[in-house]
Amino acid sequence: MHGLMMDMPLTITSIMRHADTVHRDSEIVSVTADNLQHRYSYGDAFRRVRQLANALAKSGLVMGDRIATLAWNDYRHFELYYAVSCAGQVCHTVNPRLFPEQIEYILNHAEDRWVFLDPMFVPLMEQMQNRLPSVEGFVVLTSQQNMPSHNLRNCHNYESFIGAQADIFEWPDLHENDASSLCYTSGTTGNPKGVLYSHRSTVLHSLVGALPDVMNLSVDDVVMPIVPMFHVNAWGTAYSAPMIGSKLVLPGAKMADGETLVRLINAEKVNYSLGVPTIWLALVNYLELSGETVKSLKTVVVGGSAVPLSLMQALEKHGIWANVAWGMTEMSPLGSYNYQTADMRRSTRQQIDQIRIKAGRNVFGVEMKIVDQNDQSLPRDGQSSGLLKVRGPWVCSGYYRAEEPTAVDTDGWFDTGDMASIDGQGMLTITDRVKDVIKSGGEWISSIDIENAVMAHPHVGEAAVIGIAHEQWTERPLLVIVPADGATPDEDAILAFLKGKIASWWIPDACILVDNIPHTATGKISKKDLREQFKDFTPS
Ligand code: ADP
Repeated sequence: MHGLMMDMPLTITSIMRHADTVHRDSEIVSVTADNLQHRYSYGDAFRRVRQLANALAKSGLVMGDRIATLAWNDYRHFELYYAVSCAGQVCHTVNPRLFPEQIEYILNHAEDRWVFLDPMFVPLMEQMQNRLPSVEGFVVLTSQQNMPSHNLRNCHNYESFIGAQADIFEWPDLHENDASSLCYTSGTTGNPKGVLYSHRSTVLHSLVGALPDVMNLSVDDVVMPIVPMFHVNAWGTAYSAPMIGSKLVLPGAKMADGETLVRLINAEKVNYSLGVPTIWLALVNYLELSGETVKSLKTVVVGGSAVPLSLMQALEKHGIWANVAWGMTEMSPLGSYNYQTADMRRSTRQQIDQIRIKAGRNVFGVEMKIVDQNDQSLPRDGQSSGLLKVRGPWVCSGYYRAEEPTAVDTDGWFDTGDMASIDGQGMLTITDRVKDVIKSGGEWISSIDIENAVMAHPHVGEAAVIGIAHEQWTERPLLVIVPADGATPDEDAILAFLKGKIASWWIPDACILVDNIPHTATGKISKKDLREQFKDFTPS
C-alpha cells in the first residue's frame, strides 16, 4: 500500500526557494579579485541567479548540459551553483590546482559547453582553448571594468553576461534523481573520475550535514568554508547554509592566507569553519607569529586527511575546538563526524584526546562495514582492521562515462580504498589508504599512527611516513619531515621520541629532513610523489 503523502521532489530548487523566502536577509560576504569585501543577501543572490539562468537559456543551454567552473569560493561561484543546477544543467566544478593535462582531460571528458572562470585562469584557458572542442564560450567572473585582456574566443565578462537579463525565471520541474553537479576525483591513480551528484543526493546530504551532532548549523551561525567550492561542493556548505539561513563567508583565492582568514573571521564574526589540516596549520602558524586572536571562532571541522592531535591541541590554545570528519568525493563527501558527547566531556583529558582524533560515527544515511581480503565482514570490535565499504543515498553508484569498472560490488557496497576499524559504538578509525599501507614482515604498519605521534614533537612542522622496499621485510617505514618554523630537529632524537608511543617495530628505519613535502591538488600530502622521490633510498 502506498502512503498518501505528497510526492514532492527533493531538489536544489527547493533549497533556493526556501532560502529566498525565509532567509532573504542572511548575508554572503566574499573576497573576489575585484572586491576584498563584497557583501549582499541571499535575496540579492537569488535575484542574480535568475538573471544568470536567463543568460544561460539565451546561450542555448539546455537540460543536462555540463557547464564548467574554474573558480574560488565567492558569490559569483555561488550563483552558478544554483542557476546551473536549478535550470536542469550540470554544474561541473573543476579543480584549478590540477595539472593542466588533467584539467584538459576533465573538460573534454565531461564535454562541457561553457567555462566560467576567475580572471587568474584566463592564461590557462587561452593555451588550452583550441584543444577543447565541446566548449562554445567563456565567461570571466568579473565586471567589464576589471576584465583582463585576453584572446579567448566567444568570451564575456560575467556582469555584462547577466546584466541585461530579466530577474524573473520559470524554473523547470525537475526529477529529484536528475544530475545536479559533477566533480572529478583528483586522479592520484589513473585518470580523474567523474562523480555525478543528483538533486536528491544533494538535498539529503545537506539536511544530514546540518544536524545537531554533525555541523549543528543554525540561522545565527556564520560559516566560512575554507574547503573549496571547486572540490566536493565545499563539503556541502553551499547548500546547507542557505537551507538553514546561516551567513556565509567566502574567502576567494585567499584560502591558505592566514592574514586574510583572520581578518574575515574577526570582521564577520565567523564562528564555524571547515578545512583540511594544512589550512589549520597555516592559521595556527599565523596566529602564533602575529599574536592576533580569533575570539568568535569556536568550532572547525577538519577532514580530508588524518588529523594530528597536536594540531587539534594547537587550535584549542586559541579557543577553537576541532571536530574530525571523514568522507570522500564519491560520498558528497560526508561519511562520519566526531562530535563531542556528554560522555566525552565527562572523560579524562587523556581519554578525550584518544577519542577525538578518530573519524567519528557514521552519520544517518551512510552505512559502513569493514571486510577482510575475502570480502567477509569483520567484527566491530575496535581492533579488527579491514577494507572500509559504505553505501547510502549520497554515495556514488558509478563514475560518469566510466572507462573502468566502478568500485561498487554486486551487493551495492562502495569500496572506499581506506583501511579502518569500527568499534562497538560505531566509532570509526581510519588506519591508512590501502595504497599507503606499509607491509612489513607480513604485518601492516599504519602510517597515520606514526605521523600522528611524530607531529607532537615541537620541532616537526609536517610529517609523512611511506613504505620503502626492504629485502628482508618487504617494506619498512621511512619518516620524512619538514621542520617547524625556525627549528633544526635532530633526526635521531625524532626517532627516539617515538619510542613508547608506537610499537617498537613500527619505528621508521630513517628520518629525513626536507624543505617541502609534495601535496595533491586538494591540499593533501602526496605519498605517491614521495614514494617516487625516495624509491632508491636505503637507510644507512
Ligand atoms: P581526492 O583527493 O582523490 O579527491 P577525496 O578528497 O575524495 O579524494 O579524499 C578521500 C580520502 O581522504 C578518503 O578516502 C581518506 O583516505 C582521506 N580522508 C578523508 N578524511 C579523512 C580523515 N578524517 N582521516 C583520515 N583520512 C581521511
